[in-house]
Amino acid sequence: MSRRYVIGGNWKMNLTLPEAQELGSGLRNRLGSHRGAEAIVYPSFPYLQTMVKRFDDSRVAVGAQDLHTEQSGAYTSGVSVQMLTSIGVTHVLIGHSERRAVFGDSDEIVAQKLSVALANGLIPTLCIGETREERHSNETFSVLERQLNSALRGHTPQALSKLILAYEPVWAIGTGLTASPAQAQEVHAWVRGYVGSLLGSSFASQVPIQYGGSVKPANAAGLLSQPDIDGALVGGASLKAPSFADIIKSAH
Ligand code: PEP
Repeated sequence: MSRRYVIGGNWKMNLTLPEAQELGSGLRNRLGSHRGAEAIVYPSFPYLQTMVKRFDDSRVAVGAQDLHTEQSGAYTSGVSVQMLTSIGVTHVLIGHSERRAVFGDSDEIVAQKLSVALANGLIPTLCIGETREERHSNETFSVLERQLNSALRGHTPQALSKLILAYEPVWAIGTGLTASPAQAQEVHAWVRGYVGSLLGSSFASQVPIQYGGSVKPANAAGLLSQPDIDGALVGGASLKAPSFADIIKSAH
């Protein structure tokens, strides 16, 4: 049986609507009947419904970059889980490092968002990762332990059966610096082991762990050949159909 790979494209706060539509069409055309890795795109909120329609009946799923912890109410600018599911969104990013650093999403908020997504059937990708300072002071594993423990504690393996994890060293996001395949593999193996201690080894062996941080067509295959790297979460290189399609196709 071939290995399961999951590739996500985080569009962040980029693209006009016509550009997003062109990217969507370009990706559909390039992926054609491709049957390899699972692919998910994460457009900005205003484009989600258009993209759900554009990728209808295709192998590309559509996810949101965030959601609110509350279901509804007086939370001006918030986007709730029901808003997302009611327009056909199936996936969501939780705890992206930019949400943590720029918008102040604490471990507690990240945990609440994960619970809301799970309770409402959205497939979450929980993002974890250490900053450059934390790596230099040898805190990588304690940071990851804190982030994983706070988000996953209290959930059963059954409730988390669709979970995707993304290890994204913050120092590699949008910087052009990539962890080497060996560096990333070392952390991924540790993450799988730690998740196993929380949720059991059978859960840990099947949960996809994506790597994120300046993934491009040129470095994707090397990263994806590692035994514990089950996919990629891609920012910059997901904004062009040729490079994102190449990354998806390099996962096999
Ligand atoms: C990201 O935003 O999750 C990311 C990995 O970005 P980039 O690929 O641009 O480093």
